[in-house]
Amino acid sequence: MEFETWQLLVLPFFFALGWLAARIDIRQVVKESRSIPTSYFRGLNYLLSEQPDRAIEAFLEVARLDPDTLELHFALGALFRRRGELDRAIRIHQNLVDRSDLKQDQRLKALYELGQDFLKAGLLDRAEDIFKKLETGVHVLDALRHQLEIYVLEKDWEAAIAVAQRLEKLGSPSQHADTSHYHCELALNAMLRKDVDAARAHLGEALAINRKAVRASQLLGDLAAQAGDDAGAIEHWRHIEQQNTAYLPVVAERLLKAYQRLGRLDDGIELIKGYLGRQPSADLFHILFNTVAEHRGWAEAEALAAETLKQLPSLRVLDDYLQARTSGTGNDLEIRMAQDLVHRQVSRVAYYQCGHCGFKARQFFWQCPACATWEGIPPERKENE
Ligand SMILES: [Zn+2]
Repeated sequence: MEFETWQLLVLPFFFALGWLAARIDIRQVVKESRSIPTSYFRGLNYLLSEQPDRAIEAFLEVARLDPDTLELHFALGALFRRRGELDRAIRIHQNLVDRSDLKQDQRLKALYELGQDFLKAGLLDRAEDIFKKLETGVHVLDALRHQLEIYVLEKDWEAAIAVAQRLEKLGSPSQHADTSHYHCELALNAMLRKDVDAARAHLGEALAINRKAVRASQLLGDLAAQAGDDAGAIEHWRHIEQQNTAYLPVVAERLLKAYQRLGRLDDGIELIKGYLGRQPSADLFHILFNTVAEHRGWAEAEALAAETLKQLPSLRVLDDYLQARTSGTGNDLEIRMAQDLVHRQVSRVAYYQCGHCGFKARQFFWQCPACATWEGIPPERKENE
């Protein structure tokens, strides 16, 4: 291989290029860092020394001095909303919306943030106005979801149904289960104004949308029972056997009463005993226990509780068993003390609980009062420590 003198220069040449490039980069970095306001570094310092309030004030100063720091404005606005300082969040986002120099996508983003501020502040009308403006463009799905949230809060069920349908058309996950509840709410309103036909129509719609709509079957049964049609009511309530057996405790008492009115209480008791075989449930048992104790006496109720306790070792069933023991003939002091203790423990630890947010309640709700999830609360109480 032939060697030429000029090749000796190649290495120093590339070395010089690298050195130059490095110098340019360093100069650029120094220049940029000089253009950042000192408040920014002060803010960073406060953040690092875990003084978030002072950091926020420093960053606010940066935002005031340099209106071009859009991302900083958005970050501060979102932070204020998260911290519940809604007036500050609204001010920041409103300022962005009012600015004439923003690009369309930035203005829409600011508008969307402002809508969320109003929603969190409970200013539902103003939030609704904003989310309606965002019905076209990139924020359409989120805007519709927030509109749905607002209509549910306002109990405007017709509007909620319309928005849910639009969401589905735009490819959102199925809203059928929730929409069937909106129809049930409309049916309840119709029942309050004694408009039986409208109530039945809404419940029919609820079932057409979601054939597993247990609540619609329950309300159809209630309508029939109110009209004196106990056999019809039983048919509707028994439909829940095919829909979701977990919800049988919700209608068990109604079923027993309807059978009793028809003079067929024994059939009702056998039916609930059959349910217990399929759906071991202390709440379901408690309803059966009360009916048996009332109509057949404490001895049979006690035997039933003792038998159930073997399959379902629950504090609530034990409570029923001890109640039968203390109410029956074998009433001694020790059993009464034990019953008192167990009963107090049951009242302390048994409650319904939302599987979505953990909210605890003494009574059953179709919609969680805390997180607004429909059917978030299972219809069986838990025995938690
Ligand atoms: Zn919840």
